[in-house]
Amino acid sequence: MQQIKTVGVIGSGTMGAGIAQLLVQNGYPVILFDIDETTVTRAKEAIESKLDRLVVKERITHATSEKAKKNLGITTDMNSFANCQLVIEAAPERLEIKRSIFSQLEEICSKDSILTSNTSSLSITEISGQSANPERIAGLHFFNPAPIMPLVEVVKGLKTASSTVETLVQFAQTINKNPVMCKDTPGFIVNRVARPFYNEALRIMNDKIATPSQIDRIMKNAGNFKMGPFELQDLIGIDINFATTKSVYEGFHGESRFRPHYYQERMVQSGSLGRKTKGGFFDYDN
Ligand code: NAD
Repeated sequence: MQQIKTVGVIGSGTMGAGIAQLLVQNGYPVILFDIDETTVTRAKEAIESKLDRLVVKERITHATSEKAKKNLGITTDMNSFANCQLVIEAAPERLEIKRSIFSQLEEICSKDSILTSNTSSLSITEISGQSANPERIAGLHFFNPAPIMPLVEVVKGLKTASSTVETLVQFAQTINKNPVMCKDTPGFIVNRVARPFYNEALRIMNDKIATPSQIDRIMKNAGNFKMGPFELQDLIGIDINFATTKSVYEGFHGESRFRPHYYQERMVQSGSLGRKTKGGFFDYDN
């Protein structure tokens, strides 16, 4: 396994941008990819303005911020990853997209580089099923917001080499995260635990027992949760949350306790996806 010097990040949305920010803040040169120039340029600008804000809040020094900005490269050409020792894919939660990305990466990246997916719920074994070298493919699952949340799940697919997992655990420690090793089971650890949190909240709302803001308030005030299930869905993206629930449900072959709620699907169909569309369970226009 090579030493990790440069990291490629695929997808500059909520997670990809957060992961890229985290890495450059910790001194890693990063190449951030997205499918079009406008999206990836916007993500770079957003990361730069977040770094500026961290300087104002005295969380990082001006020098760290400047170095981080210099370390952040953007691209729309995956061939730019040829010299990356690690690639983290954070594209939409769709198997065919991820499989296509990994088959391109296998052609582009050297054999001893590590290829990872930030998938919340898809099987690493399935993503890497058609790969020539599945031993260097693993899950590296960050939580939202990636620069802040300490946990990272390192997921070992059926054919992932133990050395790949060990390198990723060490890598996660270099960026000040707490890595946990997981088996490739539906939802891994955290998302499996979290499904009933969202699903029961949706049922309580739908049964008109309490409103989203009441449920969130109760969970925070009485349960000491940092966020309630509805503001959390808005932060994560209701589409992403729904896709995760669906995938965990399918992963357990239709076990009823994981069944997605139709109302969440309606929200996705209506295009109300949460903060990223300025509206979800709550309004973010202002
Ligand atoms: P997002 O919709 O915010 O961003 C996805 C990005 O991928 C977009 O910028 C999009 O332009 C880009 N993209 C679209 N098609 C692509 C392709 N073919 N190749 C490369 N990039 C493409 O999604 P997100 O919330 O950042 O989620 C990304 C991944 O991270 C998913 O697998 C998701 O399950 C996982 N995840 C999400 C969260 C969360 O809270 N949102 C948390 C942990 C993990």
